Amino acid sequence: MHREHFYVNPRDVRGSELILSEEETHHLLRVLRKKKGDIVWVVDGEGTGYEVKILHIETNGARGKILTTRRRIGEPVAEIHLAQGVLKGERFDWLVEKATEIGIRKIIPFTSENAVTVAGPQKVARWKRIAMAAMKQSGRSVLPEIASTMTFHQVVSLGSNCSCRLIAHIGPESVSVKSIESKHHISTQRALLVVGPEGGFSKEEMTRAVEHGFRPVTLGPRRLRAETAGIVFSTLVLSKLGELE
Ligand code: SAM
Repeated sequence: MHREHFYVNPRDVRGSELILSEEETHHLLRVLRKKKGDIVWVVDGEGTGYEVKILHIETNGARGKILTTRRRIGEPVAEIHLAQGVLKGERFDWLVEKATEIGIRKIIPFTSENAVTVAGPQKVARWKRIAMAAMKQSGRSVLPEIASTMTFHQVVSLGSNCSCRLIAHIGPESVSVKSIESKHHISTQRALLVVGPEGGFSKEEMTRAVEHGFRPVTLGPRRLRAETAGIVFSTLVLSKLGELE
């Protein structure tokens, strides 16, 4: 059953009680019209969820009693990391929101030959706020990590920490997600999915990725916009792992 979650900073969990921030309390009071005695679900962004009875509520904060504690509510077993070439305007905002909703654990913006814009700390902070809202709205308990902008070469090196390395690419060598033998290439361990920027990857970048064990993957016969590709790719892999059932 879906229910909207509230966020508690882990340091504000004290024994059998927790304290909600002014911002969360505002949402609790003014938007959802909760009151003393109501039961709500609160998550700490690190995988712990609390069923909480509101004991005291004022405009600047609320205090609740923890009734039950559960680990990893709303979380897929698979740890999927999505690396995506930085996009212009608000398109990366959209990507962060949707990737969080569907269960991505880490989002890695990167620069490459065809994507040179570096997202500064303000943008990363904005994406973190978007991810926080999407985590609560979608009923997750882990706040996805938003990495600082890396280079494509750094992303390729990250692959060594992942049991499954896939790169979305339009080309004859690409195979479908469906055709990949799940036992060997998509497992419930960590997977790194890489999606290019609007201009795609250069030949050298693709060669480098393949040399580092990345498998080129097709997302179908239509050329998707980069942010659409990121969500379609993630969805196909999550679905293959049975995480969308
Ligand atoms: N002109 C670029 C090319 O031919 O590669 C188009 C790039 S596309 C707009 C942006 C990124 O989305 C690509 O680098 C790729 O990672 C991904 N992408 C989009 N459609 C795809 C498809 N049908 N199959 C595989 N990857 C796709």
